[in-house]
Amino acid sequence: MRRTILAFQPLLDNEMRQLDREYNVLKLWEANDPVSLIKKNANDIQAILSTYNSSGVSDRLISALPNLEIIAQFGVGYDNIDLQAAEKHGVAVTNTPNVLTDDTADVALFLMLNVARRAVEADMFVRVGRWHSGSMPLSTSISGKTVGIVGLGKIGRAIAMRAQAFNTRIIYTSRSKKDVPYTYYDDLGKMAQDCNFLILACAGGKETKNLITYNILKKLGSKGYLINISRGSVVNEEDLLIALRNQAIAGAGLDVFADEPNVPEEMIKMDNVVLSPHVGSATIETRSKMGQLVLDNLKAYFDGKPLLSPVRLVS
Ligand code: NAP
Repeated sequence: MRRTILAFQPLLDNEMRQLDREYNVLKLWEANDPVSLIKKNANDIQAILSTYNSSGVSDRLISALPNLEIIAQFGVGYDNIDLQAAEKHGVAVTNTPNVLTDDTADVALFLMLNVARRAVEADMFVRVGRWHSGSMPLSTSISGKTVGIVGLGKIGRAIAMRAQAFNTRIIYTSRSKKDVPYTYYDDLGKMAQDCNFLILACAGGKETKNLITYNILKKLGSKGYLINISRGSVVNEEDLLIALRNQAIAGAGLDVFADEPNVPEEMIKMDNVVLSPHVGSATIETRSKMGQLVLDNLKAYFDGKPLLSPVRLVS
C-alpha cells in the first residue's frame, strides 16, 4: 500500500508525477476544507511536504498526526517548522540546501545592481517617454564599494564571489569566523558603518528576528543600501520604512517581507526601493532540483537509508 503524504504545495509537473506515482498525496491546495482533510486522514499521514509560503508546521499539527515520521521541506530555510515539536515527537526533518544557492545569490546581486543603478526607474523612464525631455538622474557606482554580508553560509559565500567580480571589497558577520579571505566583524553595527551595501543572507527564525533595526540602518547611512534575500523577519520593517522615508539610508532591494505577500503600501510607492516577490529559488531548473531532492529524501527515509539533507534538530 502506498504511504500517505500531506503536501502543502505542488511540485513542478515532472516531480509531481513522481510524487503521485509513489505516494497517496493529500493535496492541501486543492482542498475545499483543508482542516477536515487533515482530520479525516490524521492516522494515515506519515509524511509532510512543506514549503515556506505555507501556514507552517506547528506543534499543533505535528501532535495531531500520530503516525507522522518525516517533514520534507521544499526550501533551505525551515523557520516555518517547529523543530522542537518535531524532535519531541521523533519526526525527522529534511530541507533542500545547495541546489538553490546560485539562483538566490543571483537575486541578491540583481537587487544590488537594480537599486544602485536605478534599473527599474531607467526602464520606466524609457517606456513612459521621459527620455525625450532630458537625461535620467545619475545613479551610484558598485565598483570600488564595500559589501557587508550578514551570514556567510552557502548563499552568503556565493554572493561574496559574485560581488567580488564587480570589483567590491567583501566584509562579513556570522555567528562564527570563517576561513575566508574577507574581513570578519563580530559587531553588526560596526560592519554596517563600514559598508555601502548591507546584504542579508542569514537564516530566519527567533535568533535573527529584527536583527536589522533603525539603529543599524542609521549606521549604514544615507549613502548605504540594504539588500535582503534572507527572511522578512530579519528586518524590523517599521524601522526600515522610517529609514527609507527619512533617507537615513539611500535605498533597499528586497526579495522577502515580514508578512508575505503583503508589502507595506508606503513601500510600494517609494522609488528608492526595488521589490521582488520572494523569487530567490524561483527558476524552472532550481525548483525542479529542489523537488527531486524532496523525493530523494523521502525515498531514503522510507527505504531506511541515510537522509540526503537532514536538518539538525534542536539538541
Ligand atoms: P546556511 O548555509 O545554513 O547559512 C546560514 C547562515 O546564517 C550561516 O552563515 C549562519 O552563520 C548565519 N546565521 C545564523 N544565525 C545568525 C545570526 N544570529 N547572525 C548572523 N548570522 C547568522 O544557509 P543558506 O543556504 O546560505 O541559506 C540562508 C538563508 O537564505 C536561508 O535560511 C533562507 O532563509 C534564505 N533563503 C532565501 C531564499 C529566497 O528565495 N529569498 C532562497 C533560499 C534561501 P554561521 O555560519 O556562523 O552559523
